[in-house]
Amino acid sequence: MTPTNRRILVVGAGFAGAVHARTLAENGYRVHVIDRRPHIGGNAYDRVDENGIRVHVYGPHLFHTKNEAVIAWLKRFGRFTPYQHKVRVRLPDGATAPLPINRTTVNIVHGTDLQTEAEVKAFLASVAVPIAHPANAAEYLYSRIGTALTDLFFRPYTRKMWLMELEDMAASVVQRIPINYDDTDTYFERTQTQMMPVDGYTALFDQILSHEAITVDLGVGYEKGMERDYGHCFTSMPIDEYFDYVDGELPYRSIRFHHRTATEAPEQGWSVTNFTDDGPLTRETAWHIIPHHLVERTGRYTYTAEEPCDYKDNGFERYYPVKTADGRFQARYDLYKERAKDLATISFIGRCGTYQYLDMDQVINQSLAHVGKWIAERSGQGAA
Ligand SMILES: Cc1cc2nc3c(=O)[nH]c(=O)nc-3n(C[C@H](O)[C@H](O)[C@H](O)COP(=O)(O)OP(=O)(O)OC[C@H]3O[C@@H](n4cnc5c(N)ncnc54)[C@H](O)[C@@H]3O)c2cc1C
Repeated sequence: MTPTNRRILVVGAGFAGAVHARTLAENGYRVHVIDRRPHIGGNAYDRVDENGIRVHVYGPHLFHTKNEAVIAWLKRFGRFTPYQHKVRVRLPDGATAPLPINRTTVNIVHGTDLQTEAEVKAFLASVAVPIAHPANAAEYLYSRIGTALTDLFFRPYTRKMWLMELEDMAASVVQRIPINYDDTDTYFERTQTQMMPVDGYTALFDQILSHEAITVDLGVGYEKGMERDYGHCFTSMPIDEYFDYVDGELPYRSIRFHHRTATEAPEQGWSVTNFTDDGPLTRETAWHIIPHHLVERTGRYTYTAEEPCDYKDNGFERYYPVKTADGRFQARYDLYKERAKDLATISFIGRCGTYQYLDMDQVINQSLAHVGKWIAERSGQGAA
């Protein structure tokens, strides 16, 4: 392989780009990472603010996975602490109840005193609407938990987040929402490993990208033809943007973050509170509850509320790909994916390169597999 072929351009210093860069560097390639933002870490970027609180700048990132290989890979680059994430929903009377719905939630919302899992199951069956074949998300939830819990916990949130009614969403979207008939009050399944980086995500990325064969340039956007000087380009840029939106835009929901400082921090046992009202905000994070997020004691605490919006109303910050029941944007993405097949030296990676919502563990897993296969194919040809 020629020296040029040994040089790789990686666009994006988020998890997709960082995993590709590190793996390539460890396999003898020289890697140039660029990101148009002024920092590494992509959407997982965090910083300690003026209140001494570690804040995730693009919303709370809780690491959870069942994938042991991903855990082993990550642990090479930092220390982690176990953390069981908990979420509560604020009800119209100001009380809060656990999410996902559990026995306590049912008792608080319905004023019952159910004691056992069997009682909870029987009660939910009694309030459920008998719909044999739910045609949409509303019907599915009504047939499982009844109208009161559905309209309180899921209807306003869906409206705010997706600008959609539950009736317009496929039942499959909500089928995986867990219901705990016991008192389990952790947000993610207990069978998953949940952990947080002790020194934050940015420090973790610092270590991942810290390799003599990797150079990182921040505040540098991709420009057409940049890949000319490299053997290959892995890019986590939005695929529609690369092709100048020729087949139309791939839309995203975005979030505006509203930070406030409080001088008192109630001893609450959960970090995220979801809102059920009709206002613009979906949830608020109390950062100091998450381990290693109260970095310096200043007597001040940062809380961050989230207001969903269209990505065009938030400086083209792309967060959640928009999924519709008719799959029209997925079909549009498929057109771009077809076009990408003609590009021999460019691979689209990560959330915006493949137009999927991916959790961090999924991005790491996919990236390890993708770059591993790419390297193996070149080695097989005797090129590497
Ligand atoms: C609000 C929110 C909350 C989340 N919470 C969780 C959570 O709790 N747990 C979890 O597992 N996952 C969570 N995620 C998902 C997580 O953010 C993603 O899995 C991860 O960020 C994907 O990494 P990525 O590299 O694909 O994309 P990104 O992190 O977005 O990185 C892509 C990078 O590419 C850069 N880039 C794009 N275009 C260009 C260009 N033209 N030139 C140069 N640079 C460019 C961007 O600036 C960006 O830094 C959350 C996501 C969001 C939006």
